[in-house]
Amino acid sequence: MAYDPNNVFARILRGEIPCKKVFENDHAVAFDDINPQTRVHVLVIPKGAYVSSDDFAAKASDAELAGFFRAVGEVGRLMKVDASGYRILANHGRDAHQEVPHFHIHVFGGENLGRMNKPPRD
Ligand code: 5GP
Repeated sequence: MAYDPNNVFARILRGEIPCKKVFENDHAVAFDDINPQTRVHVLVIPKGAYVSSDDFAAKASDAELAGFFRAVGEVGRLMKVDASGYRILANHGRDAHQEVPHFHIHVFGGENLGRMNKPPRD
């Protein structure tokens, strides 16, 4: 899938849409999810134009990969969920119901998250 430069996270990166920023480094930005599913729900996105986790894993430089995952760790510490625990999740593509076509990791925490959800079976 080609990268859509008008997706909502690209617009956040360009400052066209506001966000509640939690952390930023050379390669990533983290901000609160607009529709939080848990007490802590932060999205970490790379500054580069990557559609999904698959695209990012295949094409990002070592510096981008490192900077991105360092940012995920920083978010856990800044949100004070590193000791209590948190869950990270990335949706890739249709079966995972990825809504925004710019790679992002969700950081969920601040409460007991229960066991990992199993996919619904029809
Ligand atoms: P996905 O299903 O693609 O993994 O998740 C997309 C996430 O982006 C959702 O949790 C949704 O609430 C969040 N989101 C969508 N639009 C915006 C926005 O404009 N600002 C922020 N902060 N989050 C958004």
